[in-house]
Amino acid sequence: MRLANLDGRAAFVLDDETFDAEEASDGRLSPDPMGVLQEWDLARAVAASLKRGSGRSLDLSALRSPVPRPGAIYGVVANYPPAVLPEPALPMIFGKFPTAVTGPYDPICLPRPERLPMKAEWTVLEAELAVVIGRGGRHIPVDEAFSRVAGYTVAQDVTERIHEFGPRGSSVGTMDYASLKALGKSLDTFCPLGPLLVSLDELADPDSLELVCRLNGTVVQQASTAELLLGVSGLVAMLSSFCTLRPGDVILTGTPTPVDGQLPRLAAGDVVETTITGIGTMRNECLAED
Ligand code: ZN
Repeated sequence: MRLANLDGRAAFVLDDETFDAEEASDGRLSPDPMGVLQEWDLARAVAASLKRGSGRSLDLSALRSPVPRPGAIYGVVANYPPAVLPEPALPMIFGKFPTAVTGPYDPICLPRPERLPMKAEWTVLEAELAVVIGRGGRHIPVDEAFSRVAGYTVAQDVTERIHEFGPRGSSVGTMDYASLKALGKSLDTFCPLGPLLVSLDELADPDSLELVCRLNGTVVQQASTAELLLGVSGLVAMLSSFCTLRPGDVILTGTPTPVDGQLPRLAAGDVVETTITGIGTMRNECLAED
């Protein structure tokens, strides 16, 4: 099943046709994509009953984040090689505020340094696989994790590194920071999600997806999610041992090591294209905040 947010209304997508979720369910499903995530089993049943040829054509310009208001966004640090997880396998986890969410074709607004407390900015991209929670729960066993997930979408975990590392960070790239990480991760528009939410049964292997990020047409990140040090099931289990995962919560699974070793700094006019095979491509242009 493929779920879209078309100008605020949940819609199922079959090839290039769309079906309004509320209409297709005779009013049993909410028009709100967050409401559909609360009724994931019903949504799947309705989606299975759709007939090709009776939908509307897909208007890409109407696509918004398929998860517009997640209750929580969890992020993971250093979850691809050459990083090595400690024992026990607990990567560093951070929170990203849901106000950062934006759509798959919306601009990324780069902050003006003079408006930030440290009077500087250094914003980088981070292409990531995003896990969207379905049924969720607490203390989820690893072997049940996929049954608690609604599906996947593509994410950018855009990050302003000066404030991520904070006034005690000696330079970009150090981990010696004051606790501004959540804010450096959470400027408005710093979490593009989309273009669609894809359920796991649509994917040949949900543990092995090709992730590619292009900056102005040049490949800057390329990896398989099979390389994740702590994979999706492990992350769901680990996070749920602390927090109840709720429908629509998002886990950003971590960003692969960039092609040239450095996450590229973003500038106004840059175009970021983020693709996961089987899910789709987001295209976000960088603009200076006005
Ligand atoms: Zn990240």
